[in-house]
Amino acid sequence: MARIVVQKFGGSSVSDVEKIRKVAQRVKARRDEGWELVVVVSAMGDTTDELLSLAKQISADPPRRELDMLLTCGERISMALLSMALQDLGVAAISFTGSQSGIITDDTHSQARIVEVKPGRIEEALGQGKVVIVAGYQGVSRNKEVTTLGRGGSDTSAVALAAALHADCEIYSDVDGIYSADPRIVPSAKKLDSISPEEMQELATAGAKVLNAQAVEFAREQGIVIHAKSTHSAGTGTRIEAKPGELGRVRGVTCEADVWGFCVAGAPDALLELLDSHQVKPRSLSFDASGRTLVLVPLQDVHAPEVLRAKLPPGVTVLDELGTVTCVGTGLHADGLVLRKALSVAHAMNAPVTAMASSALQLTIVTSRSLVKSLTKGLHEALVG
Ligand code: ADP
Ligand code: ASP
Ligand code: MG
Repeated sequence: MARIVVQKFGGSSVSDVEKIRKVAQRVKARRDEGWELVVVVSAMGDTTDELLSLAKQISADPPRRELDMLLTCGERISMALLSMALQDLGVAAISFTGSQSGIITDDTHSQARIVEVKPGRIEEALGQGKVVIVAGYQGVSRNKEVTTLGRGGSDTSAVALAAALHADCEIYSDVDGIYSADPRIVPSAKKLDSISPEEMQELATAGAKVLNAQAVEFAREQGIVIHAKSTHSAGTGTRIEAKPGELGRVRGVTCEADVWGFCVAGAPDALLELLDSHQVKPRSLSFDASGRTLVLVPLQDVHAPEVLRAKLPPGVTVLDELGTVTCVGTGLHADGLVLRKALSVAHAMNAPVTAMASSALQLTIVTSRSLVKSLTKGLHEALVG
């Protein structure tokens, strides 16, 4: 029986007709090697941002159900075009939406979680010798409502399908795998041949958009090895797999410029309830000795932050000029060396350290948003080399 591979191509890989044709050729070449293929696609280029901007021109707080109906259109365009491109090359293909693919989610519109995959229709099409193209980033709830999985969610679609089909999982992007920092911010960043799922999950959660955090979590839970590769070159990519790394070494540095800090004098319960009722997920929560709480919230999936601000309970202030820089590695807390080096880099750059958090796997500095990129470069130079 032929092996199945799930390949995912992101927005930049399908941003115009020429690129879609190139992806089709790549898929055909793999098919000619005898593989069965399921190909997950994202929306073309900046389509999702453009659809979001349309929604926000209509409403400051668009109903999430309708937002999902709108945003899922982006991936439907790509899936149909790629299927046409394959058929044009003489390859039998069929495209499916998330719902047709059997991706069942909870009903948290705009940030749904996959709860089950029923790949019957995909298996049937594979059995008929077709390449199956799946619209990423979307599913359907048990109430038959169309949902989206949060920004960057096509990665999660790919991992979930790979798990359900016992298939290999390859995520293609505009970079040749996972680097020790975003190569757009740190040009000297090095490609990693492999990284542990735990380290990758920390990087993704702290802002490395090269892989979606939920996708990495899913892969870790299901024991799926993700292979991150380049769409455009024949590089070796990065395998996200459990391999003992060097303890105490920083493997990667990443940053997140789009976060809000909620500073609470006293108990944070009312704030946490408000965030929960708006389906806003905090990234971290820390207390200081004077009884204040700092709740960090990435804004990527918060579609009406100003509406949230207007509803804040008394005693909560928004710190909206913050960003975070995170160093990731295994056993970072073994001695205080990484911590001391990181602080001395921040001090030398006059970067304020508004808050810090550390664990065995990561060290995060909360600083001014405007300094996030330069602190990333500084920490990369000092700790990765
Ligand atoms: P896609 O559209 O294929 O999903 P993304 O734009 O979501 O691709 O992710 C790829 C981008 O992630 C790269 O262009 C790069 O700028 C960024 N990136 C951030 N951190 C890293 C990292 N550690 N290694 C590689 N790329 C990274
Ligand atoms: N198109 C969606 C986004 O831009 C999902 C994805 O690209 O994975 O976030
Ligand atoms: Mg992505």
